[in-house]
Amino acid sequence: MKNLSKAENLLNSLGISTPGEIDLEAIAWTQNVLVKTRPLEGCEARIFGKGDVAIISVNEDSRPTRQRFSIAHELGHWNNDRGMNFYCSSKDLEIGFKNSKLAERLANYFAADLLFPSFLFKPIVRQTPELTWDVIKGVSNDFNTSLTATVFRFIDSNELPVMLAVYNSNLERLWVKRSSQIPERWYPKETISIPQSLKWNDSGMFPVTADYWFDQDDCDEYEIEEQTFQYADRILALLTIKDERMRDLE
Ligand SMILES: [Zn+2]
Repeated sequence: MKNLSKAENLLNSLGISTPGEIDLEAIAWTQNVLVKTRPLEGCEARIFGKGDVAIISVNEDSRPTRQRFSIAHELGHWNNDRGMNFYCSSKDLEIGFKNSKLAERLANYFAADLLFPSFLFKPIVRQTPELTWDVIKGVSNDFNTSLTATVFRFIDSNELPVMLAVYNSNLERLWVKRSSQIPERWYPKETISIPQSLKWNDSGMFPVTADYWFDQDDCDEYEIEEQTFQYADRILALLTIKDERMRDLE
């Protein structure tokens, strides 16, 4: 296999060929790293290294998928900056957050490659004609990862014309993640009304005019597809833009 990243090379060297084989504690063990789940205060995960051995601690109160991301992130520190100790906050582990610390960003890239190596993930993207929350839930189940981490990996593949827009329960925009197939001028509104797909509880992508989500003058001429999903106090909107006129980069 060519052009593998550091994390993908590690998986490849261990002969891992299915998502179910990505056992992070076992992988850590092959790198002389012991993983412990314990109560932590003031950080979400940490790594203490000495010489060739290290201990990773992850917050015992966190969801299992969050713990997995934390272990993968700390293994990123181990592979990028061996010998240094790191205390990582939940912000450091936030993949949607543009962390100013390079070491944290690099550890997150490593984690994404370790959890979703391209040699396993790209074939799935190629076999996905349309991204829906059902597809995302199925893949996050197979890879034992969070919905957010999974949808990010799909968007970062830049193979699909999709974006994720996240709103709070007051329907105010929190953040947006876009595939490069969608021009930058399409940025969802700051506040929205209740999305149609949420209102109708539709199980697939729901066609709506673009002015539900965007406020450019010509929006009512276009149709896009949405599928919203409520998760705790967040509304996660998956938006697909198929209209070639909207995808014109001019
Ligand atoms: Zn970190």
